[in-house]
Amino acid sequence: TWSTVPAGPPDPILGVTEAFKADKDPRKINLGVGAYRDGNGKPYVLSSVKSAEDLIALENPDKEYLPISGLPEFTKAAAKLAYGADSQPLKQSAIAVVQSISGTGALRIGGAFLQRFFPHAKAIYIPTPSWGNHTSIFRDSGLEVKQYRYFDKKTVGLDFEGMKADLQSMPPNSIVLLHACAHNPTGVDPTPEQWVELSSLIAEKSLFPFFDMAYQGFASGSTTRDAFALRHFVKEGHQVALAQSFAKNMGLYGERVGAFSLVAADEEEKKRLESQLKIVIRPMYSNPPLHGARIASTILTNFELYSEWEAEVKGMAERIISMRARLYDNLVSLNTPGEWSHIKSQIGMFSFTGLTTPQTQTLAEKAHIYMTADGRISMAGLNAHNIDYFSESVSKAVKS
Ligand code: PMP
Repeated sequence: TWSTVPAGPPDPILGVTEAFKADKDPRKINLGVGAYRDGNGKPYVLSSVKSAEDLIALENPDKEYLPISGLPEFTKAAAKLAYGADSQPLKQSAIAVVQSISGTGALRIGGAFLQRFFPHAKAIYIPTPSWGNHTSIFRDSGLEVKQYRYFDKKTVGLDFEGMKADLQSMPPNSIVLLHACAHNPTGVDPTPEQWVELSSLIAEKSLFPFFDMAYQGFASGSTTRDAFALRHFVKEGHQVALAQSFAKNMGLYGERVGAFSLVAADEEEKKRLESQLKIVIRPMYSNPPLHGARIASTILTNFELYSEWEAEVKGMAERIISMRARLYDNLVSLNTPGEWSHIKSQIGMFSFTGLTTPQTQTLAEKAHIYMTADGRISMAGLNAHNIDYFSESVSKAVKS
């Protein structure tokens, strides 16, 4: 029956973990997958998450199905975190929100909804480069996926002029996927001033902004600062779509906690949108998982846990920022050829090092250091124990 089914290629990111696992050298380092690691290289369960789980256990709750649109306390709190308590559409009850299977599921619900109800959209445009899964998610949702210029290899920074030129030439009603903060894989974000310009241009050209916010709080350490772009667009009157993930900022990777939302014109429109979102979700997976949403909503609605969580997000962001500074200093003091200041200026979980594919191969073979072939490293995989070895190995690979 399946003799014509060809073997598919391994996932480019998860494939790195496979190679890492097979390596027996004690010095090995995995900088492939984007999951936070503590100062000892270990997975990190936030203490606010543990406390929330203790509180939940005390209540001894049942395991009944959630509504199709998820846990109401959670979706309400998630929207407040993203849009801000003083958001006009939020106060007017004009934001349709549903719980999703983390950020990926939110993007997929968005893709399916837009495919069904935004048929005049010619395509969805994603940045070059973007998170690898964006293309597959939107293609499988039935949208045509195109790209806009984003990263400038020469400056290892934002190609702002190229990006604006591409937005200028998109047909009206095109969907533009924007990374709200901590762009993956490059770690390069527009400045607040550039976001203001982008918001005006996107309005002028009648484009539809779809924000992917997988790292709120994780980029700068402040959930407010990281929501600047989203909140500015909404304030300027854009009716955005938003995919939220709590994988990184709460360390809830495997619990799959996320939300998808749409800003509506008013409450009546919101109700129509929510009814259709439910119709999109019901045949996909019926209703979302319970436990992670309980954890997130407990943290977001409990004053003490919220403060504890904010400090923990800040701690994760700051540890990453300190590793950037140390890596930069090391590479410079080892006289590594090239300009490395982007390591410090890039934002969030990843750094786009500028290492070439052959250099990444050398690092894997000679130094047992694993990263994606595009030279992206997960900064969270570096710590006081391995950063010097990593810096020396990179310096050697660049010089050879
Ligand atoms: N968008 C971006 C840009 C991401 O980097 C990620 C996580 N790697 C996601 C969405 C979604 O991840 P998850 O489904 O685990 O929330």
